[in-house]
Amino acid sequence: MPTDADDLLRHLAATLGPQRICTGAAALAPYATMPWVRLRPRQEASARLGMPAGVVRPASSEEVATVLAAATAAGVAVVPYGAGTGVMGGALPVAGGIVLDLGALDRIVAMEPVDRTARVQAGVVLGDLAQAAAARGLLFAHDPWSQPIATVGGAVSTNGMGYLAAGYGSMGDQVLGLDVVLPTGQILSWPGAAKGAGPALWKLFVGAEGALGVITGAVVQLFPQPPARALLAYRFPSFADGFTAIDRVIGADLRPVMVDFEERTGPPLHSPADLYLAFDGPPAVIGAAAREATRLCRAAGGSQRTPAAAQRFWDERHASAEWFREQRAEQVAPTRPRPERRGMLYVDVAVPIARGLDYCAMVVEAARAGGVTVRSFGVWARPELLSFILEGPTAPLAEGAGPGPLDQVLDEVLSLARALGGSIEYCHGVGARLSHLLPTELGAAYPLLQRLKAALDPAEILNPGKLASVPPG
Ligand SMILES: Cc1cc2nc3c(=O)[nH]c(=O)nc-3n(C[C@H](O)[C@H](O)[C@H](O)COP(=O)(O)OP(=O)(O)OC[C@H]3O[C@@H](n4cnc5c(N)ncnc54)[C@H](O)[C@@H]3O)c2cc1C
Repeated sequence: MPTDADDLLRHLAATLGPQRICTGAAALAPYATMPWVRLRPRQEASARLGMPAGVVRPASSEEVATVLAAATAAGVAVVPYGAGTGVMGGALPVAGGIVLDLGALDRIVAMEPVDRTARVQAGVVLGDLAQAAAARGLLFAHDPWSQPIATVGGAVSTNGMGYLAAGYGSMGDQVLGLDVVLPTGQILSWPGAAKGAGPALWKLFVGAEGALGVITGAVVQLFPQPPARALLAYRFPSFADGFTAIDRVIGADLRPVMVDFEERTGPPLHSPADLYLAFDGPPAVIGAAAREATRLCRAAGGSQRTPAAAQRFWDERHASAEWFREQRAEQVAPTRPRPERRGMLYVDVAVPIARGLDYCAMVVEAARAGGVTVRSFGVWARPELLSFILEGPTAPLAEGAGPGPLDQVLDEVLSLARALGGSIEYCHGVGARLSHLLPTELGAAYPLLQRLKAALDPAEILNPGKLASVPPG
């Protein structure tokens, strides 16, 4: 039996075929370096040591089972990898070991127009599924900025959110069943019944960031293509005005499928902010909803913008993914030195509606006191889900360096969200970047997660250093 990572790779090359294994510095670099993920300085220093010994690209659940059983026997870390677009470093091999790239599991196995479901392999790119569904008159409603580049397995594992989450929910809300391989090599399959008996155990793997099992397939709920969609754009004098409008629109039970609200450049909480709404449904229904939404937005101080402005926003919603795709080679092998002393962080927290505006004011104050800039407060999907950007000095990248002002303020504002009854993150997972805050986030449930981890992954091979560690002893 293999005893270390190199040994394991030789064993897997012999078992699965050498075409499934990648080694060599050039092939491994894209898996070891994700400069768009800003880790804390100490993590960053050690993550640089986390070059995987190799990458395995299995082509079936059975091959995944072979890899995991052998890795468990050898005690070698395995890091599941979808497309590596995660922003928290969840797919970074911070402890070395091997990377399990699910990208070759890229088949849409079945599309059932009558059932409005799709059975897909985990490595299917979200945008490919959306196009295949649209060709059959159906809607795949998980539409994140990264739809053209991220995979189904990655989206389920982070329980991501997209533009249409206000109406159709998160990725996890749109999954009916999963195929999962446990670290021991056991293959489990939940076929995707609309509702089942007993606890929905497959949901354990939604948002589990590859730490409890490897998702190899999913049954995804599709929706009818809406007969019509109303896209609307408004501008508000301030964040508070738009926040109030969103709350009133949702409070009036108008049910927009998209809510996207963000401040334009300017002092935080004192600059104009743009709101985009969408309604799906029969023309008469969405026409009435749009008229009422416009009335509520105007009453809150908003002015309606042109249909062209709303359409442009919608048409450009994946621009950042296209940019990311083009820049990726440059980011993996940067020709410019990365500025190490300043950083920018996107923060996505959940806060109860009643405390939302207070929270934003607290963030501004914490940032000011900590010497950090805050900008672009926004809301996605529902008023509880708040986003903003922090920008400021980071600590020097040296082993043993403490957190710099940016990370200190980040931890403070995340703790504030939690203290107000919210959550530190609502769509990207904790990855390597926020894993130190998970025990506080989960509270008394964290030891339960550790026990689940120990039961499913006794050798602690899956994505170590991320979601949960096996308790000692
Ligand atoms: C430009 C850009 C825009 C983005 N916009 C959004 C957005 O709008 N909404 C949003 O939610 N996110 C967004 N993201 C973040 C990212 O795209 C999502 O987190 C996405 O779901 C990750 O998918 P992936 O296939 O790249 O997964 P990866 O980054 O490869 O992995 C993410 C995590 O899931 C685990 N994992 C991956 N595949 C599997 C599997 N099959 N089984 C078990 N574990 C697995 C990994 O170990 C890791 O912990 C954006 C990222 C970029 C770069």
